[in-house]
Amino acid sequence: MGAWLGAVVWLALDAWRAERLLQVLRNDAAGLPTRAPGVWGELSERIRKLLREREQQTRQAEDRLQEFLAAIQASPNGVVLLDEHGRIEWCNQTAAAQFGIDAERDLAQHLANLVRDPAFVAYLASWNYSRDVVIDAPGIGHHAHQRGHAVRLSVQVHPYAGNRRMLLTRDITALEQAEAMRRDFVANVSHEIRTPLTVLAGFVETLQNLPLDADERTRYLALMGQQSHRMETLVNDLLTLSRLEGSAAPSGNQWIRIRALLAHCEDEGRGLSGRLAPLGHRLSFTIDAESEVSGAPTELQSAMSNLLSNAIRYTPGGGEVAVSWRVLPDGRGEYAVKDTGPGIAAEHIPRLTERFYRIDRSRSRETGGTGLGLAIVKHIAQRHGAELRIESAVGKGSRFALVFPATRVREARVLVK
Ligand code: ADP
Repeated sequence: MGAWLGAVVWLALDAWRAERLLQVLRNDAAGLPTRAPGVWGELSERIRKLLREREQQTRQAEDRLQEFLAAIQASPNGVVLLDEHGRIEWCNQTAAAQFGIDAERDLAQHLANLVRDPAFVAYLASWNYSRDVVIDAPGIGHHAHQRGHAVRLSVQVHPYAGNRRMLLTRDITALEQAEAMRRDFVANVSHEIRTPLTVLAGFVETLQNLPLDADERTRYLALMGQQSHRMETLVNDLLTLSRLEGSAAPSGNQWIRIRALLAHCEDEGRGLSGRLAPLGHRLSFTIDAESEVSGAPTELQSAMSNLLSNAIRYTPGGGEVAVSWRVLPDGRGEYAVKDTGPGIAAEHIPRLTERFYRIDRSRSRETGGTGLGLAIVKHIAQRHGAELRIESAVGKGSRFALVFPATRVREARVLVK
């Protein structure tokens, strides 16, 4: 009887312990009792351990997820994840900025309601994502818009996990600008070559079809020679430009005497002046301080000669062209060419170094210009860390100067001449 009673009490106690454990599990597993006696105690202990392991795994998975998201955040490309209904599930800051949306506030919004560009909306709805769609970025670029340059976005959708979609965006503004420049450049070159080519072809036809006397033939051949020379100059300038673009910057340990560079300029300048103007020009060359510059000799010579030849070509005969070198108080060196020519209106000045930019086309042509001279000078200047300064006003002549950094200028060791 006592044993029977004992069994009942034990059973009741056991049931109560089981019930208590269940109670705890139902409410909050974190409150599981530690070190309870008997089978329920061990059970509770094991559950606690399992739970702890699970929690750790979840935390690790969560950490990994955060790392992934941080990596995607760092991407220069925009990333947007859309659910089955086209609602934003997640997006990185780049995409938010580009689309002008808020990465948190706009969660669960339909992207097509936020980005209203018709091309984009149609693309999103088409479910044909074999290629990208290019739109103006609605977000960034309000300032850019004011300057007339929209930020251009390439957006491509990649479906995944059934009907979910991942949007990748890329800022292709610079790419499109470079592409436009390339097209312009090719069009310009073609035009520049076609003009003399057309003239040449005309003369060839004339020579073939008309009986000409010796004088006429000579005259025609001379004109043909001029045109082919023009094409040659153009091709040479183009090659110079592409060489300058494709090669490493000149080193700083080859030194060239300014006096030698200027002497060469003088030879060329006097020759050109004599050919262009019967009166010639009043040319002067002055060196304030005997110096040397470091860099590529042919490039430096070409840049300096170019500025001088422009001054001579655009200044009417009898005018004055002064070439000078001086070392500034801070150690920089300045090569300057000052002329009494027609001068240049302020609006043209910033554009002079663009390829094929000319103010007076016919004057440029007549004097053998290609429209590439100042583009070449600017390139050479940049490669030497020098600055091209242009000061000019209509009717007041022009002053073109190359200012070399102090590191590329030193006193000449040997004084000659
Ligand atoms: P170009 O071969 O036509 O001379 P450049 O690139 O050397 O080409 O110069 C661009 C334009 O700048 C010229 O067409 C000319 O209109 C203007 N220019 C350059 N130098 C002078 C100058 N000293 N005086 C007036 N105009 C100049």
